[in-house]
Amino acid sequence: MEAPRLYSTKPVQSLKPTKKIPLEEDTGKASDALPLPLYLTNALFFTLFFSVVYFLLSRWREKIRTSTPLHVVTFSDIIAILSFLASFIYLLGFFGIDFVQSSVFQSSPDVWISEEEDDEVLLAKEDARKVPCGQALDCSLPPLPPVAPIVTAQKVFDEKPVTVLTEEDEEIIKSVVAGTTPSYSLESKLGDCKRAAAIRREALQRLTGKSLSGLPLDGFDYESILGQCCEMPVGYVQIPVGISGPLLVNGREYSVPMATTEGCLVASTNRGCKAIHLSGGATSVLLKDGMTRAPCVRFGTAKRAADLKLYLEDPDNFETLSVVFNRSSRFGRLQGIKCAIAGKNLYIRFTCSTGDAMGMNMVSKGVQNVLDFLQTDFPDMDVIGISGNYCSDKKPAAVNWIEGRGKSVVCEATIKGDVVRKVLKTSVESLVELNMLKNLTGSAMAGALGGFNAHASNIVAAIYIATGQDPAQNVESSHCITMMEAVNDGKDLHVSVTMPSIEVGTVGGGTQLASQSACLNLLGVKGASKETPGANSRTLATIVASAVLAGELSLMSAIAAGQLVKSHMKYNRSTKDVSKASS
Ligand code: ADP
Repeated sequence: MEAPRLYSTKPVQSLKPTKKIPLEEDTGKASDALPLPLYLTNALFFTLFFSVVYFLLSRWREKIRTSTPLHVVTFSDIIAILSFLASFIYLLGFFGIDFVQSSVFQSSPDVWISEEEDDEVLLAKEDARKVPCGQALDCSLPPLPPVAPIVTAQKVFDEKPVTVLTEEDEEIIKSVVAGTTPSYSLESKLGDCKRAAAIRREALQRLTGKSLSGLPLDGFDYESILGQCCEMPVGYVQIPVGISGPLLVNGREYSVPMATTEGCLVASTNRGCKAIHLSGGATSVLLKDGMTRAPCVRFGTAKRAADLKLYLEDPDNFETLSVVFNRSSRFGRLQGIKCAIAGKNLYIRFTCSTGDAMGMNMVSKGVQNVLDFLQTDFPDMDVIGISGNYCSDKKPAAVNWIEGRGKSVVCEATIKGDVVRKVLKTSVESLVELNMLKNLTGSAMAGALGGFNAHASNIVAAIYIATGQDPAQNVESSHCITMMEAVNDGKDLHVSVTMPSIEVGTVGGGTQLASQSACLNLLGVKGASKETPGANSRTLATIVASAVLAGELSLMSAIAAGQLVKSHMKYNRSTKDVSKASS
């Protein structure tokens, strides 16, 4: 089967601009203009066609019987012949052309292919994008992997449920249902994670009386999540992964995997990628890289809390503290300490580099080392909690917006005026005005905290799920301010996103699971960087910011051009009868 193409590969015939055809007309049929509903028109012409064929055949037989020459025609014969021709032409036009188009000219799956022909012709010349390769300017196709993985993947997909419960399993299910065997202990008792999941699932169905059919059990490696990613599994949820790109950033092309069930999102981001690529690419710069953890400690007096604050923030003590902090990891390196005081309570925000890990475990271990060390000089210090919410993890907080958390990235591109018009279907002025009124003023009116953007969280969440990041960190990772400005005498658009707290890693957590690791591999950032620890996770952060830039460009353009509702109706609303599907 031919691999799906991302962009039209139609040969460019001429650079002469052709007549502009509105998008809707591309997809319309001549029959749309008929005065009667389509099914009635079809029925009418079908009836006419078969009636006149019957009439003409009867007349032919009669002429043979009466030896009348065939060319002698009556008025009714002429009417019948004309009706035959008219109905034949109509039916051929209606059914024949679609048939010829679908069988002779292969249609492309590219969502952008319906754009006007003249746009394609003008832009094809500039569109240097190749097949998505996820690698630097070298876009030569990588050597094909052995056939085996494809066969395996297909096999998993086609497999019928293979888990069969035995009589022994039945006994265990009964004891789980009765409460004599705790569900959480199945993995350690049985030593077989898949079997444990199957038994737990069956016990759950019996206990709740609810079916889990539809939630797959087979085709997943339950060993890989044990003690790391998920407890008490009963199956897994399938989320489709779409690809947007190639996204050209810092001179490299990336095919960006996005796990989502929101129709339009991948298509829209893909359009943004196209606009960026046609304009020469985006530049993404990492400004800071440090994960934070802030314990809360309490003293008998505010004075004692202040003593500790002054001690921790004294540059002379930093070296001692960093030696203590760095003891527990090869990669966690203390960068700084910032304290906030509330009466007798002190909140100590530690920041450290974490290599290619997102770093929450790493920073927590380092913090614990320091707290233990401080007990000697501050024995009256009462540790309330290793996290006192001043970190701040998975909650909207100004401290992340202002100080940053994880990776702080700024990403920019200058989009050519032509591309704004032809790919984004809007104008530079409209985008600049909309950005000012929506992303800046509108968000200010709403009292936004880091929400000065159109939909950064859409792109962040989709990439996070695809690449095994912690989706809950989408809260602060999506903090983003989108800026737009007319440049080059108002001809072109300068667009940027500034994202101070992108929390990503390429080792640890969900990143090592097979599907997520495949998506990281596609981006060329799988696992720990061999050359420079931290380089993979930093690259991932710059990709996230650039994909957000693409998403912002496209959605803002759709809103500016008034296309948003129309495209959502097209890509989000299946024509399937939902009521039937769910019954
Ligand atoms: P997190 O701190 O993000 O929760 P984990 O502690 O689960 O991550 O995973 C990080 C683990 O990976 C640590 O044990 C660390 O020693 C190991 N590791 C190996 N290579 C690297 C690397 N290049 N960067 C960071 N951690 C690494």
